[in-house]
Amino acid sequence: MSKATVKVERDQYKVDGEFSAIIPGTPIRDEEGRLCGVTKPRQIVHMHSYGGEALFFDALSKGRLLATRCANPACTAKGTVYLPFRTCCPDCLANMEPIDYTEVAKAGAKVYTFIVTERSGAFNTLVKPIRFIDIEFPGAATLLKGYMVAGEPRIGLRVVPVFRREHPTFTITDLAWAAEGTKPQDLPPGFSFASNERIPGAAVVQP
Ligand SMILES: [Zn+2]
Repeated sequence: MSKATVKVERDQYKVDGEFSAIIPGTPIRDEEGRLCGVTKPRQIVHMHSYGGEALFFDALSKGRLLATRCANPACTAKGTVYLPFRTCCPDCLANMEPIDYTEVAKAGAKVYTFIVTERSGAFNTLVKPIRFIDIEFPGAATLLKGYMVAGEPRIGLRVVPVFRREHPTFTITDLAWAAEGTKPQDLPPGFSFASNERIPGAAVVQP
């Protein structure tokens, strides 16, 4: 099976390779060897378009955490900061401006609540037990969900963002959290603290 790949040329997706494949199955039999059925493995490649959120996922691979803010002067919620990154304002539906919230997160992100999960669903890639946390940020209207890779969660714990900058997956798992004061050598392989890179089009917000 040739690997499925996609690129964009002149604003159009160009796909290559195979996006679905039938994998040989096996018979299902009872204790006497009588045939009861078959397994039918299938492989499907999903294509997930990020649209206006692509900037957010690209920034993670560069070690920066982006949020969005409504800049519409006519909006009653003008200036409200949203993290998770969302492209449109929920109040006025206008496109929002991306902002770089990394410094605010480094200086003031806290665990709002948490849950430690011993069991996960199919296709989980996180190391178990998973320390899921809800994170609150000074000045943001929303909580962000994430997971801790260093330290034990507790309500009110100060956490800092860490980023999978080596071999990024360009998914939300490239963003994780560590207890404040964690040393670089205590981060999992591939993860590092925030960089000083500037993301074009996203003004840096200072705490
Ligand atoms: Zn608005």
